[in-house]
Amino acid sequence: MSDCIFCKIAEREIPAKIVYEDDKVLCFHDINPQAPVHALLIPKKHVASMDDLNDEDRELMGHVVLKIKEIAKTLGLENGYRVVNNCGEDGMQEVKHFHFHILGKRQMLWPPG
Ligand code: AMP
Ligand code: ZN
Repeated sequence: MSDCIFCKIAEREIPAKIVYEDDKVLCFHDINPQAPVHALLIPKKHVASMDDLNDEDRELMGHVVLKIKEIAKTLGLENGYRVVNNCGEDGMQEVKHFHFHILGKRQMLWPPG
């Protein structure tokens, strides 16, 4: 997707503070952190949102979820963390490239606003 900001980060057209990368996913620090640690994990494949995932993404999503757990440890989140996905209008998704937020190093209030 030529106009997608996260695809551009994955293609190194826009800079980001990269946390982790492999052939399927990229993790980088959020530019506007909502917690002392706030990283984003994206599949390199452009998928617009959670609602746009389909059956062929099953294996990729397994990889994504297990990577979150591994990356959380490398970010020092031994005390726990929150994983968030904003989907669509009511989810207030801003960037239309599927991503998980990984937030930690403070206690997360629940419910969110
Ligand atoms: P969402 O509302 O779930 O779509 O969240 C999008 C997130 O992307 C927000 O937390 C933004 O701060 C973050 N973001 C937007 N542009 C960039 C960027 N260039 N580098 C890193 N994070 C970004
Ligand atoms: Zn994209």
